Amino acid sequence: MADTKALTTRAADFSAWYNELIARAELADYSPVRGCMVIRPNGYAIWEQMQRALDQMFKDTGHQNAYFPLFIPQSFLSREAAHVEGFAPETAVVTHGGGKELEEPLVVRPTSETIIYAMYAKWIQSYRDLPLLINQWANVVRWEMRTRLFLRTTEFLWQEGHTAHATEAEAEAEALQMLGVYRTFMEEWMAMPVVTGRKTDSERFAGAVRTYSCEALMQDNKALQAGTSHNLGQNFSRAFEVTFQTAAGDLDHVWNTSWGVSTRLVGALIMTHGDDGGLVCPPRLAQYQVVIVPIYRTDDERTAVLDTAHAIKRDLAAEGIRVHLDGRDGMKPGAKYYEWESRGAPLRLEIGPRDVTAGAVVLARRTGGKKETVPVEGLPARMLEEMDRMQAELLATATARREAASIRGATKEQFLAHLEGPGGFVYAGFCGRGTCEAEIKEQTKATIRVLPDKEFRSPVAPTTCMWCGQPSVAEAVWAKAY
Ligand SMILES: [Zn+2]
Repeated sequence: MADTKALTTRAADFSAWYNELIARAELADYSPVRGCMVIRPNGYAIWEQMQRALDQMFKDTGHQNAYFPLFIPQSFLSREAAHVEGFAPETAVVTHGGGKELEEPLVVRPTSETIIYAMYAKWIQSYRDLPLLINQWANVVRWEMRTRLFLRTTEFLWQEGHTAHATEAEAEAEALQMLGVYRTFMEEWMAMPVVTGRKTDSERFAGAVRTYSCEALMQDNKALQAGTSHNLGQNFSRAFEVTFQTAAGDLDHVWNTSWGVSTRLVGALIMTHGDDGGLVCPPRLAQYQVVIVPIYRTDDERTAVLDTAHAIKRDLAAEGIRVHLDGRDGMKPGAKYYEWESRGAPLRLEIGPRDVTAGAVVLARRTGGKKETVPVEGLPARMLEEMDRMQAELLATATARREAASIRGATKEQFLAHLEGPGGFVYAGFCGRGTCEAEIKEQTKATIRVLPDKEFRSPVAPTTCMWCGQPSVAEAVWAKAY
């Protein structure tokens, strides 16, 4: 029997709410192996929708999918100094195979730069082989002691794009293009607004020249890094001797980028839109966009109602709407409503015997508002309209919430008060010194999420560092983060 106890509210305990929501909606579960996550069908369905949308966007920008192995020779990781320093502490290492100790231990990939660029060294000879634009969908392993489903797990699913280019400018353009693809996906599909920009040196990817990031603000006013894109320069091509003959006949190292998003996005979606009733899924990513719940008492009613329900289902499916008819017997309609609400289904249609006679259905929206009786005729167009509206409203609501939790031009006192109080994004001047950044992190746990792109910057640029008072070199967005 479904658990009908109310979730802990977001206001009472956001973290407990998050965990209970995931359990209630059957999105994921803890595994017998500490730190690992089991993604249940309802959670995996959201990931699949995300994958489909992103995969098409990658292909539309000229990328192809490939697959590289799970195991990486341990020595590969050491070839790029910053890379090994960043990743060695969290790697899982295989020392035995087939009952024998291995000559060289194998690292379970924490990310695939090293193995992929080792292969690129074989595949790239000439400028004619460039650009090489490859993506892989895979799992990676980064040893974690603290588990938070979807947000921090030892094994997670992701995609990692890896490209090679003939010039630095092309690599930079690629890194920025993919940041833009992520932003579009997050805004248009997840209905999740993000601030884009560059990471500071202390926050950039191990081995990158520049890291760009999409940063979102969750409902508890903590930031979540939702996707990153890296300009790797020639760091890896030098380490792995990925060279090519230029058009002029010289030998040069290629310029690389890598970029990734992960199942963390499912956690981001939950914490952006979920409410005290459970998950709220934007229609474009919902497993079922419309759920039909038939209501009947007698066998005659059952036949009539189900006939109509099936006809409506066919009509909606014909328009490409993902629709589910919940025909489970022995479960009361109210229990079904409750279940689909907790799972975040955007639209619900309730059909009883009187509705069948009237040629109507009752429409309920997951985002609230009064139930409404709507005619069966023209229902597919109406559902498409409702979904478009809901998709837009979710983005507008999340954007308004983020802006309400952001302060600009903050002084040190305002910065401290905001982070100790409600939390959120703080836009303020930054002197560019790592020492200042480290001190702030130690004292407040806040980090620079990004040095924001132009369109996110404040109208008046700050002139002094919010912390130390020295001249500001860039506006920074600070927050406590996941
Ligand atoms: Zn400073």
